[in-house]
Amino acid sequence: MTDAVIVGGGLAGLAAAVAVARAGLDTIHLVPKGPPDRRTSALMLPSVEYLQSAGLVTEPASIGHPLTQIRIIDMTPRLIRAPETLFDSAEIGLSAFGWNFPNVKLAEAFEAARSGLPRLRTIETTLDDLSIGDDSSTLKLGNGETLTAALVVGADGKKSRVRESAGFRARENGFTQAALVCDLGLERPIGGASIEFHYENGPFTLVPAGGNRANLVWIDERDTLKAVQEGSKEQMAALFREKSQRLFGAIELLTPAHMFLLSTLSVDIAGKDGVVLVGESAHAFPPIGAQGLNLGLRDVADLAASLAATDLGQPGFARRVSEDYARRRAGDLARTGVVVDTLFRSLLADFLPAQAMRAGGLWALKLLPPLRKAAFDVGMGVR
Ligand SMILES: Cc1cc2nc3c(=O)[nH]c(=O)nc-3n(C[C@H](O)[C@H](O)[C@H](O)COP(=O)(O)OP(=O)(O)OC[C@H]3O[C@@H](n4cnc5c(N)ncnc54)[C@H](O)[C@@H]3O)c2cc1C
Repeated sequence: MTDAVIVGGGLAGLAAAVAVARAGLDTIHLVPKGPPDRRTSALMLPSVEYLQSAGLVTEPASIGHPLTQIRIIDMTPRLIRAPETLFDSAEIGLSAFGWNFPNVKLAEAFEAARSGLPRLRTIETTLDDLSIGDDSSTLKLGNGETLTAALVVGADGKKSRVRESAGFRARENGFTQAALVCDLGLERPIGGASIEFHYENGPFTLVPAGGNRANLVWIDERDTLKAVQEGSKEQMAALFREKSQRLFGAIELLTPAHMFLLSTLSVDIAGKDGVVLVGESAHAFPPIGAQGLNLGLRDVADLAASLAATDLGQPGFARRVSEDYARRRAGDLARTGVVVDTLFRSLLADFLPAQAMRAGGLWALKLLPPLRKAAFDVGMGVR
């Protein structure tokens, strides 16, 4: 029997594997082969500080780009429109809100941290089945092997096999919207500002990627984005130039455009019976307000805290870790879920009261210092 198995080799799984092996447990990490993750992640300062303290990233500037401003421009033809709103990190005495990283660079850094750990073994396979016993779980793997483990960490994404087999209750809600992402070259530099153009069906966001480069995250109806994706590079570049109000001149596509379907997912509790869920196996949101991986890293930080607070030499330690973890995560998961869901619905709502509330909310954010401070705290994931 091994002490712990981590299922899933996304960013949450890689970070969790490092945390669990560093806590002193004999750890097996199940990582099926998959395509590289072409997304980018805006990580707020508390997340970046965690990455540094956990030895997952040593020098953020070597793989990412600072985010110093967030600018929101209302492009909807609605009756009640919001004012242009600018958040500047200098307002709260910081040189940046956080950093924008390519996920492939983060994965490389996390893998480097993982590779030096003597108690961690990686197996390139899937989890096919999981059954929970009194003191251990049995895992059937895609390569035909069977493992038993005291602690199981589900980091296997939205369609988590761990979550389902271990009987966690989850609520999932699909949307008709999707997100289109690609890297862009701009004629004029974007500096450190993330710029969100809010259109009727969702935001068109340019996130700084250094110099004249930006990462596009465009949320719109799935069919609209599919039609755009099927166009030529030149057609897409011309459309992006219009959607960005020609603020950056000509635009060039530096990578192919990838589409991600959007949904929300939440669980009642994030740990029980010696099983814990981290990352998107426990929570998923539309990429609004850059919360997904920030929350996933807070999961991993709390898992590390639960491991540190538990006597790992005693029988039954895994159940105690899972219960402690569930308690630590409850408030943050509930709070973040409500904030992102409300934000997403308010961005897309096309009925008048929601427009008024949203416009009113942005005016209030523009004008009222206490509300701005609260918005900064929520966005930064301050606990
Ligand atoms: C367009 C877009 C932009 C985003 N931008 C941001 C942002 O700016 N900031 C931010 O904080 N978040 C952002 N997010 C969210 C963030 O990308 C995710 O929250 C994060 O990458 C999820 O990581 P994960 O490891 O939990 O899941 P995943 O990356 O989905 O990884 C799950 C892993 O589990 C593996 N797996 C699945 N099934 C099995 C199985 N049966 N056995 C073994 N392994 C299995 C998969 O192969 C995969 O490697 C964005 C999301 C999108 C869609």
